[in-house]
Amino acid sequence: MSNVPAKLLQNVAEQTPRAMVAMLIVSITYALVFNILIPFNILMTWFCLQILLAICRIYNAKMFEKHLEKEDRKRLANDEVIFIALNVFQAFMWTASSVMLIIYARQPFEFVGFILIIGIVTAATLSMSSFFKAYLVFFILMITPQIAIMLYFGEYQHFALLAFIVSYIPATILLSKSMLDSRISSIKAHEDVEKSAEEFRRLSIMDNLTNIYNRRYFFEMAKKIMAIASRQQTSVSLLMIDIDHFKKVNDNYGHQAGDFVLIHLARVVEASMRESDIFARIGGEEFAILLNNTSMNDAKRIAEKIRIIIESKDFLYNTILIDTSVSIGVAEMTQEITTIEALYKQADTHLYLAKGHGRNRVYPV
Ligand code: GH3
Ligand code: MG
Ligand code: MG
Repeated sequence: MSNVPAKLLQNVAEQTPRAMVAMLIVSITYALVFNILIPFNILMTWFCLQILLAICRIYNAKMFEKHLEKEDRKRLANDEVIFIALNVFQAFMWTASSVMLIIYARQPFEFVGFILIIGIVTAATLSMSSFFKAYLVFFILMITPQIAIMLYFGEYQHFALLAFIVSYIPATILLSKSMLDSRISSIKAHEDVEKSAEEFRRLSIMDNLTNIYNRRYFFEMAKKIMAIASRQQTSVSLLMIDIDHFKKVNDNYGHQAGDFVLIHLARVVEASMRESDIFARIGGEEFAILLNNTSMNDAKRIAEKIRIIIESKDFLYNTILIDTSVSIGVAEMTQEITTIEALYKQADTHLYLAKGHGRNRVYPV
């Protein structure tokens, strides 16, 4: 299983096509410049392999993107192995370019090979360091042969370059590690921002005691739903639910017991609702349910069902059984009642009438 964070792999995949274009430009330049020194068929074979390698790398990057999107960890692990293998091959190809210079070109062309390798390794720091393991493998396989080549020639200039490599290795690895760290921390910061934005949105639409929608979101959604319903000529109804004598619950058992009842009553009502209904806490102990695609008669039936559920339910708070009931006012969107404000007013009037008729009832019956 892969343990490289997805966003880092994404970064490597995104950088690959650009890195391959750069790699091909360097390869073309190399082939054109050394065309006169290196035998044509050897140079052409090397160049064709470079093209093949670039195609494989781009295909590999596309696979990374595809499997990252599907979150297919198993295939991603395969892609990583292929990525490392292709980079091992890539390091071999660049080492071959140095060896070709040593064999077919006069001294001091080994220095050209050396500079080429250093340039490519430095560029790879940008494009590959997100996948640090692969980068290290590539780095070591690119640098080690150059150390061997410089030792092989063994003149002052070569030893000077050896000294350069010795200081270059830790500096470059530290640089790429710090690039990796800063990428990781920027990913983390981005995720934190996303998480707080998500939490902020949740808080702005939810009631924090009962964890159902709040008044603001209810009105916002109701407006949208009613607009669609009036266009499509479908019905919308509203239930206004108010707990009966709730003040007594607070007075008799304390405010915390009251909160407990609010939370659990909300859960009980929520469990009896459909996905398309919007259930919200409108005020202290008042709730509203917007019933989409529901006529007055169906709404009354639903209201009666909710009333019976609450009537027959006792809320067990510590050792106390709290018995409650609710009154429900029902209203339907009509030719006259077209806005959520008007619908709300009508349901509230009906709720008031349900209270006036003795509570624990639905109005109209
Ligand atoms: P009625 O049957 O007429 O609705 O009587 P009631 O006592 O339920 O109505 P009233 O409006 O007089 O009282 C509502 C009470 O709800 C008063 C208030 O203390 C309580 N309340 C409002 N919000 C909360 C809350 O968040 N937690 C608790 N525990 N109580 C609350
Ligand atoms: Mg009330
Ligand atoms: Mg009440």
